[in-house]
Amino acid sequence: ELGTDSESAIQKDQRYLWHNITPYNEAAPPMIAATGSGSWVTDTNGQRYMDGMSGLWCVNVGYGRKELAEAAYEQLLQLPYFPLTQSHMPAIALAEKLNNWLGDDYVIFFSNSGSEANEAAFKIARQYQQQIGQHYRHKFISRYRGYHGSSMGALSATGQAQRKYKYEPLSGGFLHVAPPDSYRRLAGQTVEEFNLHCAQAIEDMIIWEGVETIAAVIMEPVITGGGIIIPHQVYMDRVQEICRTHGVLLIIDEVICGFGRSGQKFGHHNFGIKPDIVTMAKGLTSGYLPLSATAVRKDIYEAFKDKSDDYGHFRHVNTFGGNPAACALALRNLEVIEQEHLIERAQLLGQRLNTAMMDIADHPLIGDIRSFGLLTGIELVENKDSKKPASLDIVKSIIAGCKRKGLIIGKNGDTVAGYNNILTFAPPLSSTDEDLEFLISTFKHVMSEH
Ligand code: PMP
Repeated sequence: ELGTDSESAIQKDQRYLWHNITPYNEAAPPMIAATGSGSWVTDTNGQRYMDGMSGLWCVNVGYGRKELAEAAYEQLLQLPYFPLTQSHMPAIALAEKLNNWLGDDYVIFFSNSGSEANEAAFKIARQYQQQIGQHYRHKFISRYRGYHGSSMGALSATGQAQRKYKYEPLSGGFLHVAPPDSYRRLAGQTVEEFNLHCAQAIEDMIIWEGVETIAAVIMEPVITGGGIIIPHQVYMDRVQEICRTHGVLLIIDEVICGFGRSGQKFGHHNFGIKPDIVTMAKGLTSGYLPLSATAVRKDIYEAFKDKSDDYGHFRHVNTFGGNPAACALALRNLEVIEQEHLIERAQLLGQRLNTAMMDIADHPLIGDIRSFGLLTGIELVENKDSKKPASLDIVKSIIAGCKRKGLIIGKNGDTVAGYNNILTFAPPLSSTDEDLEFLISTFKHVMSEH
């Protein structure tokens, strides 16, 4: 009877479902979504919400796309499953398309989730270093505040204490440096100076740990889940230079920034860098089916291929990775993004959203506003001079206020570190002008009450 009797649905939800992260809360029970269309979802009570977070930053082309469902349906009838120990056409076609979108020479390994895509990247990086005779290179460097997934390796690369400390010990060999959080740079430092200083911390770590022990650096183009931390161009240039100088692979995690969110096909395109490995998930299928990918530069792949079978193969199997229906749907999803010019749309809406938020920049709670394509973070503070983070109660109250008015927005940061103070906005790239106007006016209204 789910969907017809909302009370019993809530009770059943409590009885049977273990949610991601959020504990059950009597005062604010979870919304039970029933249908979706465009940027809007409707719950089992018929209440409509604009999804200002595109699910968890997934649904880039919006809900209710019949053409995506049809692509999956037709493929399910034709060939629902076949393992990629051998091959099938949807995986080949999608791999070709991704190569084209990346704009460089990559080979694609498919998995099902962002975490798995990163796990594959770590194993490829370690084995590659061995293939070329760099037998001690096993360590990874990532940033505090970055999120790379929930499985033990991906969680080890994650730099958020709140997600880790109850599950330790995690995998060894994962090191962290501070991110280029320009809002909190030292007084008297320019943004460029601060960003170069942050990049230098990576080279210092490589040198002090022993150059011959470092396999790769992994980072998002922009830290998303940790609070929309946008590097300056000089940071990305310098990171790439450091990696190349020291034989360290550069893995770019595009799980959120990819597929138009950043106003380019991939987030790293904004910086003109050429990663060795690119991981992607979420927006690859706009969240419609599980699928992820690890794109590996061709010459890295070649180092595996040229050896004998026994030694050279990548010993990694993913049963469901590259499922034919998920690949067919992903291909259609990328075509929709192209045909409807959703990347240009993300640029336009992103600029509008940023400008609208700047109108209220003098609100006493707003410390900083940061935008990257159609992705905005608003850092809430108790005091604009001290930059002390706003309390979790205030952050939650604003989010609840938006939800009561039919708008879903996000909250990011790190509770354990005391920084859970960044509101996040990532509506579908396909949002209409009216959708965006609703998001802006609703948020402004809620802020005027705080
Ligand atoms: N990397 C990044 C940047 C992410 O945001 C996420 C998920 N939020 C992941 C990896 C992990 O993806 P998944 O939840 O699909 O395992």
